[in-house]
Amino acid sequence: MTDQIARIDVPVAREPAIAHAIRELVIGNRILAHQGVLDAFGHVSVRHPANPERYLMPCSRGPALVVADDIIEYALDGTPIDQRGRPQYSERAIHGAIYLARPDVNAVVHNHSPAVIPFGVTGTVLRPIFHLGSVMGPDIPIWDITDKFGDGTDLLVIRNDVGASLARTLGGGRVVLMRGHGSAVAGRRLKEAVFIAVYMQLNAQLQLASTQLGGATKFLSPAEVARASAILLEPLGQERAWQTWSHAAGFTDV
Ligand code: MN
Repeated sequence: MTDQIARIDVPVAREPAIAHAIRELVIGNRILAHQGVLDAFGHVSVRHPANPERYLMPCSRGPALVVADDIIEYALDGTPIDQRGRPQYSERAIHGAIYLARPDVNAVVHNHSPAVIPFGVTGTVLRPIFHLGSVMGPDIPIWDITDKFGDGTDLLVIRNDVGASLARTLGGGRVVLMRGHGSAVAGRRLKEAVFIAVYMQLNAQLQLASTQLGGATKFLSPAEVARASAILLEPLGQERAWQTWSHAAGFTDV
């Protein structure tokens, strides 16, 4: 993967902390694509390490293909600081609105994971069904764009007032489902947001499998969710997962 690593190296003129954040963001994109959470669509961002009023996100490109030169710096209102002619994701408002509403959040994943979509549209509630799913939190809200913006939207979060509505439904949580569209995941760190997004998808798959077997599915209790997630949200486990998934995605030196 020497060729790939070379391609994600960043100019030496960059601040080391920013260069590091960009490299991690590239790897996070590749991991989520490799894990099937993102395909051609969906995106990942991180808050700027030196300026909390800005964030970093790739230009409009499939996450599996993102390189360091794709990363654009944004103001929280979605205005690009250094666009340099690069095309942009339309749903930037998801990211800026969450960073604005949540000073504790430093990474956001927006995805259309197919396993999760059914839980936003059927009334069947997505709930932690195994210990790793506890990182979603005990109660997962659903944001329906029609509630505030009516029927006939394109379902996309392009305007900042739509993003603010989504961020309100996320509240203080880590996950919000978007009816008929996907979800948004908020983490204190990029590795945390990636971790939650991967295990939310797996939880959805396991919940579907379990309920199809019949019988009374026993979910984690609120107390179990609290205890299990407290351990899993420590950096140790997230580092292990990040190393494993980044290696699988081709970054053998991580
Ligand atoms: Mn979307």
